[in-house]
Amino acid sequence: MSWFRREKKGISTSTEEKKEAPDGLWNKCPNCKKALHSADLQENKWVCQYCSYHLRVGSKEYFHVLFDNNEYTELFADLTSGDPLHFVDSKPYTDRLLETTKKTGLKDAIRAAHGKIEGEEIMIACMDFNFIGGSMGSVVGEKIARSIDYSLKKKVPFLMISKSGGARMMEAAFSLMQMAKTSAKLALLSQAKIPYISLLTDPTTGGVTASYAMLGDINIAEPGALIGFAGPRVIKETIKKDLPKGFQTSEFVLEHGFLDFIVDRREMKAKLATFLKMMKK
Ligand SMILES: [Zn+2]
Repeated sequence: MSWFRREKKGISTSTEEKKEAPDGLWNKCPNCKKALHSADLQENKWVCQYCSYHLRVGSKEYFHVLFDNNEYTELFADLTSGDPLHFVDSKPYTDRLLETTKKTGLKDAIRAAHGKIEGEEIMIACMDFNFIGGSMGSVVGEKIARSIDYSLKKKVPFLMISKSGGARMMEAAFSLMQMAKTSAKLALLSQAKIPYISLLTDPTTGGVTASYAMLGDINIAEPGALIGFAGPRVIKETIKKDLPKGFQTSEFVLEHGFLDFIVDRREMKAKLATFLKMMKK
């Protein structure tokens, strides 16, 4: 029976004839579920125009939001991770790195760039959550250290944008060492009296919170971001008590004195520029 036998193999419609909505033109707000057009999203700095929810974005978007005319020079772009422990979980670490690079176009969970914010020079290192959960491995630590060296050499302020699930377990102690390394470098920046601004975005947790993210001359956060060290479940099991409402949000952390203030992403550039100008005096 020819009904049951495919006579022509595969899809015969040519690519030009296909009628598809352009990929990624519409997004849905994870909070209010309303449809958001990508052009509007970019215009609104990836903040929902209906409920002000701050969507999770990466270094590309933050650079776009902050740098004048989206002009910047990316530094240390070729650093990639080794696999000193020959680590294998569900797959070898080297395979995971290759796959993630292919999927995201990123070499690791951070990008560093030098540019200007309202004419003020700045060095920015920004983490990417899409790359193995924004985990802090040796490349993240090394790029931060080199960014700080650059800030020291050029005498320009340093802005760190954190977004991380914590340490990268596939690098074990090599990952944990980055906490000490970056903190020591930041101490040098402080001695040289060069400003360090730390911006915590959703989520900033684990070893990142326990090191460079909380060491800013000013620590700022985006609204509604998850900020903490251990996850709420672990804490609840440890202290055997219910956790307060809004626990580990930017607002809660601000109230408890760990942040200086919370800034809406749409006002971030202007606010940072004010600080850069103020601190120059
Ligand atoms: Zn929304």
